[in-house]
Amino acid sequence: GTPLVEVKALRKSFAVRKGWLGTSRELWAVDGISFAIRKGETFSLVGESGCGKSTTGRLVNRLLRPSAGEVWFNGQNIGGLSEDKMRPLRKEMQMVFQDPYASLNPRMKVKDLVAEPLLIHTKLSGAERDKLACKLLETVGLNSYHAERFAHEFSGGQRQRIGIARALSVRPSLIIADEPVSALDVSIQSQVLNLMQDLQEEYGLTYLFISHDLSVVEHISDRIGVMYLGTLVETAVKDDLYDHPLHPYTQALLSSVPVPDPKLKKERIILKGDLPSPVNPPSGCRFHTRCSACMEICKQAAPEFKEVKPGHQVACHLYN
Ligand code: SF4
Ligand code: MG
Repeated sequence: GTPLVEVKALRKSFAVRKGWLGTSRELWAVDGISFAIRKGETFSLVGESGCGKSTTGRLVNRLLRPSAGEVWFNGQNIGGLSEDKMRPLRKEMQMVFQDPYASLNPRMKVKDLVAEPLLIHTKLSGAERDKLACKLLETVGLNSYHAERFAHEFSGGQRQRIGIARALSVRPSLIIADEPVSALDVSIQSQVLNLMQDLQEEYGLTYLFISHDLSVVEHISDRIGVMYLGTLVETAVKDDLYDHPLHPYTQALLSSVPVPDPKLKKERIILKGDLPSPVNPPSGCRFHTRCSACMEICKQAAPEFKEVKPGHQVACHLYN
């Protein structure tokens, strides 16, 4: 069927000022990425901070406009849509953010936080919204007794549950979750991830899950895309990516993921050098300054992103 989300050759630049006299330069935060997300799946974007994954999330739900390329939602190119035509689609795409402390207004009662999207997108009465908010709180493992309290009275994990209830309130088809568990303790992380998986099944949700951490996305993902300096370097079905990573960057990231059985531990690959500035990315393959397999051609030509096995794409000259 039609993918729920399709991103085609997407690019986004920002103007950045350098030095105090401020010659303006362009930073390509996202520089030509393509992927599709099928209905009901979890697609994760993984990479170090500054690789463009959050920008991609904000391009998908059109909080940002692309500099080039297209975003399709449910078979519709949303690039040229007016705000009026966009409004019903915004209801379909909700966000869950990293920091429930920052994203929830501490002066609002929990029931009003949860029901706020209903106020924007529906004509429900106040009493109807309150009732639905209480139901949603139960859905995410809290209870209606919490409805009259304020966000600051809750723990981090509970706040993320409130954020999820809020996103769910308008029955979206897509939830873009940007580092949803990164601010939480490891034990709480798995509770929130389990909740997200249960809700996905119950409501037929599709997730775009953004994380810097391959160990966080392992259990929740169906497919994973690895980003480096604004580009996608590899996409694959989850098991294929963890068992047979092809790109040297993915191999390095995976070598630092903890495994339960130490005998299965692969040798840790330490990346040389620092992450280059996205304002002035390396020529050719952007990863070449840190890649132990770097060849002469890597410094000159950017590798094409292409399918090398069914469902497994990689951008690397090793696979040409
Ligand atoms: Fe390394 Fe070359 Fe592949 Fe880039 S293209 S990841 S530098 S081998
Ligand atoms: Mg980010």
